[in-house]
Amino acid sequence: MRLLEGRVALVTGAAQGIGLAIARTFAEQGAAVVIADVSGEAAEKAKASVKSLGAETLAVEADVREPEQVQAMVDAASSQVGSLDVLVNNAGITRDATMRKMKLEDWQAVIDVHLTGTFLATQATSLVMREQGRGSIVNISSISGKVGMVGQSNYSAAKAGIVGLTKAAAKELAHHGVRVNAIQPGLIRTAMTAALREDIWEQKMSEIPMGRAGEPEEVANVALFLASDLSSYMTGTVLEVTGGRYM
Ligand code: NAP
Repeated sequence: MRLLEGRVALVTGAAQGIGLAIARTFAEQGAAVVIADVSGEAAEKAKASVKSLGAETLAVEADVREPEQVQAMVDAASSQVGSLDVLVNNAGITRDATMRKMKLEDWQAVIDVHLTGTFLATQATSLVMREQGRGSIVNISSISGKVGMVGQSNYSAAKAGIVGLTKAAAKELAHHGVRVNAIQPGLIRTAMTAALREDIWEQKMSEIPMGRAGEPEEVANVALFLASDLSSYMTGTVLEVTGGRYM
């Protein structure tokens, strides 16, 4: 029996990187997967890659900053695919700068996508899940939200905020059978980190006890654990996927 057989999972920012790896891993474990992304075209391309695994798949264009688009994304999952058992709040951006140089718009953009986006999708999805009496929400935070990173006051604040949101939502939803947990990845090989300067990449590598960056699939496997009944007695937790960095 596959771990997500018969379940419907919605993943935001799923067109590439960690989100796409999660969508593919869930599909391999029997889930029907809704791939949501700010780019509808990119979501359609990702859909082909997930569909090739034999899963029922739907692509939806949705900007997580926009309440109407978030609601439409949740409605599409529950009406077109049937139910909504798993939500992964994964959509993300970076706008790095030291505070001396950071523009208010860079601060706001990162807070809007990560923190407000996670709130909006959690709010809309939890209404469906509490009616069903079951569900699992997985929020992608970051180790930046645990330790704070230079040049990432916006991102670190948003990712720490996601931890607080995770715990508050977990407490509000536990008695409805809905679990809410978070993952804090470290340095993972995706487009987001491909742009890092070589000296910064090397500096980060030197901080990792396991001596290597992580792969998106290694985050996806932990998301699978939290999404599935393997973690049935866990809620409000934060799991670090960092190769031991900042343990
Ligand atoms: P990625 O490759 O850049 O993928 C992020 C996806 O989110 C992209 O498809 C992006 O679309 C989409 N997105 C951006 N803004 C959106 C919005 N407003 N609404 C919906 N979708 C939106 O990044 P990743 O590395 O896979 O990161 C995924 C998550 O993991 C993020 O939350 C990130 O903060 C977190 N994380 C990553 C790392 C790492 O080392 N990579 C470490 C810790 C945490 P566009 O490409 O069109 O912008």
